Amino acid sequence: MLFSKARQIRHSGLLLAALSLISPPIISAWAQEADEAYVVSAGTPADAGAQQIEPTISPIDNSLSPAENNSTTDAIEIDNSAAESEITTPAFTLLNQTIQPGQFRTLYWSPGQSFASIDTPVPVLVAHGKEPGPSVCLTAAVHGDELNGIEMVRRLMYQLEPANMNGTVIGVPIVNLDGFRRGSRYLADRRDLNRHFPGTYNGSAASRIANSLFSNIIRDHCNFLVDLHTGSLKRTNLPQIRADLSNEAVFEFSRHLGGITVLHGRGGEGTLRRAATDIGIPAITLESGGPNALEESAVDGGVKALETLLQNLDIQPTLRFWGTPQPVFYHSEWVRADQGGILMSEVTLGDKIKAGDILGRVVDPVTNTGSDIVSPIDGKILGMAFNQVVQTGFAAYHIGKAKTPEQAQEEAQEEAQDEAIQTQPQGNVQGSSEGSSLNIPSQPAANESDSSTRPMKSMPTAEDDIDFEANNTTSERSSENAE
Ligand SMILES: [Zn+2]
Repeated sequence: MLFSKARQIRHSGLLLAALSLISPPIISAWAQEADEAYVVSAGTPADAGAQQIEPTISPIDNSLSPAENNSTTDAIEIDNSAAESEITTPAFTLLNQTIQPGQFRTLYWSPGQSFASIDTPVPVLVAHGKEPGPSVCLTAAVHGDELNGIEMVRRLMYQLEPANMNGTVIGVPIVNLDGFRRGSRYLADRRDLNRHFPGTYNGSAASRIANSLFSNIIRDHCNFLVDLHTGSLKRTNLPQIRADLSNEAVFEFSRHLGGITVLHGRGGEGTLRRAATDIGIPAITLESGGPNALEESAVDGGVKALETLLQNLDIQPTLRFWGTPQPVFYHSEWVRADQGGILMSEVTLGDKIKAGDILGRVVDPVTNTGSDIVSPIDGKILGMAFNQVVQTGFAAYHIGKAKTPEQAQEEAQEEAQDEAIQTQPQGNVQGSSEGSSLNIPSQPAANESDSSTRPMKSMPTAEDDIDFEANNTTSERSSENAE
C-alpha cells in the first residue's frame, strides 16, 4: 500500500508539472486546492474561470438529501500527517447513499414518472477515489437510441481503480432508460429530454425528469460534465466534442481530451450541457458515431478521449497516446443536397477533401437524373449522413476547416457578442451573462419558477447536428414555447 501510494504521489507531481504546460488554469486550481500537501506548485494561479469550478467547501452531512447536500469532494485541508494516513478524503454522498473513499458503488436514481410499483430506477455508477480531486460526471443515452456512449461509460467506469484514484467519477450509462428500452431517441411522450434541462418540478414529464436528474445528480455533485451523444437520425460523426468556446472555463476544459476534434457551439436551449454550463459547471458534449449501433472505432475513440481527460485532471493515469496530442479546433459548415432523391456518398468520415471535390451524388430513381454534391471548401469530413432517401436541402456533409485554438475561441467570442447584440432589442434577456460576458454565471441554477418562464425552444429538426445551425439563427429562439 505504501509503495503504491508513493508511486501515485510521484506520478501526480510529475503529471501536473507536465500538464501545466498544456492547461494551466484548471490543473493548477486543483493542484492548489486538492493536492497542495504533496504537489509542487505548477502553473499559473487559477484564473477567474477556474475559480468558478471550485467545489463548495462544507462538511459532509450524510443526513441531508442529495438535493440539499452541496458537498462534493471537499477534502481540501491536508497536512503532511494526513497524507501519510490511509484515507485523506471524506466520503461522497449521492442519492442518499454514502460512498467511502476507495469504493465503487452502483446507486439508483428514480426519475419517478411511473407509479411506484412499476418504476424502474436508473443505475448510477460511482467511483470515489481515495485521494481528493475533482468530480467528473458522464451521462450517456439521454437519447435512448444512442448506444456508443453507453459502452463508453461501461469501459471507462470498470477500468477505474478507486483505491488509486484522486477525485470521483460518476457515470450514468443510460439516462433515458425508457427510450432505450423502446430503441427510441425520445421519451414515452415523444419529447426530447435534451431540450428540457434544467427542467421544472411541476412541468411536463420530460421537464420533471430533467429536473430530477439535474437537481439530484448534476447540480451539486459534478465539477465537470461530459454528455455523450452520437449523430442522430441517420447521421454519423467522427469522435468530437462540442463546447461553448466563448466561455473561458469550457474552452480550457475542451483542451483536456487529447487529440480530438473540437467544435464550437453553445448548445441549444434546454440541452444538458448548456444548463450545466449556465450554472458554472464546465460541460461539453462528446459525439461519436451514429445512433442504433455499437461501433468499435467510435467507442474506442470516445473512451480514449475520456481516459485522457481523467489523466489531465489528475484523477487516474492512462497509457493512451495520441499521434496529435493536442485537440484540433475546427470551424465547420454543412453541405446540403440541392435535389431530393437517393443519396450515395463517395467519401467517408475523416476524409480530407478539397474545394470542388465530389462528396456524393443524389439520384432521382424515377427519372434517372442526378446531381453531385460538391465541397465548397477544403477541409475534413467530421460528420455525414448515411446513404438514404433525402429531400432537397438535406444537410448531408459536415465539413470542418482546422483553426488554431485561439482563432476558434475568437470566433466563438465574436459570435457570442453578435448574439448578445441581436437579443438586446428584445429587452429582458434571461441569463444575459451567457452572451455578453466570458465569465461563467455565478448564480445557482434557475429555480423552477424562473425556468418555467424561459422560452423553451423546440428545435425545428430535433437533430444534435443541426443544433449548430440553429445556434446561428437566434431569431428562432423565442418563436416557440415547448412547455
Ligand atoms: Zn443525442
